[in-house]
Amino acid sequence: MKTPMIGLFGCVAAALAVLALGAYAQQAPNANREPGPQISVDGYTYTQLQLFQRNVGAADDQSTQFPAHKIIGNIYYVGTTSLASFLVVTPQGNILIDSTYERNVAVIQKSVEQLGFKFSDIKILLGSHAHADHMEGDALVKQLTGAQVMAMAEDVPALEAMKPEGKPHPIDRVLHDRDEVKLGGMTLVAHLTPGHTRGCTTWTMKIRDSGKTYNVVIIGSMGVNPGVKLVNNSDVPNLAEEFTRGFKVMRSLPCDVPLGSHPGMYRMQEKYAKLKQGDPNPFIDPAGYKIEMDIDEAMFHAVLDQQQKASGGGAGL
Ligand SMILES: [Zn+2]
Repeated sequence: MKTPMIGLFGCVAAALAVLALGAYAQQAPNANREPGPQISVDGYTYTQLQLFQRNVGAADDQSTQFPAHKIIGNIYYVGTTSLASFLVVTPQGNILIDSTYERNVAVIQKSVEQLGFKFSDIKILLGSHAHADHMEGDALVKQLTGAQVMAMAEDVPALEAMKPEGKPHPIDRVLHDRDEVKLGGMTLVAHLTPGHTRGCTTWTMKIRDSGKTYNVVIIGSMGVNPGVKLVNNSDVPNLAEEFTRGFKVMRSLPCDVPLGSHPGMYRMQEKYAKLKQGDPNPFIDPAGYKIEMDIDEAMFHAVLDQQQKASGGGAGL
């Protein structure tokens, strides 16, 4: 495992031993390989562990370049097979959302350049949430581009603890719920959708394509990772309430084009295959957004029920 050590997670070895997924950064230290509860939504059936694995993929998927491609209008995919990174292109420079692991920054740079853009034109770096597989590379991206790094206030403590090879995590602007980030005629809105992390951020923007305007939603994450305690969580006693608040926000967002911090959240690979066959643009998928929220919310309730029963009931919500 080539994953660099970071200070935030003391139980790296234990997490790797039990998971062997290369995704320790998303794990509570007591993560285990229990399948967890199972849910079925619209023909999709997952256990908690399978839903997690759908998102993070295999260890190789996290670092393997996925073909860089235009999604719609001026938003492009520049991430790996299982870790999303998006580039929003404007006449005044570009915005990158999610640097992913530091070791992936070179992969992202390659994708940006293969699309014909300059990496140094990235002026703003945003993130989905304070887990290393999404934001560990921020310091390196800033070093290479000089981009302004912006992060949701509630995620700042976790980001400050994220120091790959000792590099402090850069934060140039602290964001609050529904703050706007503007560049070159684009407005991105930061929605606080907590639960997965305290400051988990779902980005929305309007994208023009072929004379039409589309609401794009980049799902921060509404997943309950294996090992996370929704009940009797001493670090975040109201974690279940935070998730509930997150789902309420997610449900309120108009969405034509769902995207997400992991491509599995919007079935990128299926859609990319269709994209190659021509129109209509398969990334326009409002129904897919609702199904993904139904999946995530069903799993949240299943995990909460299981943990409440195990604790004798009454705790949590
Ligand atoms: Zn995460």
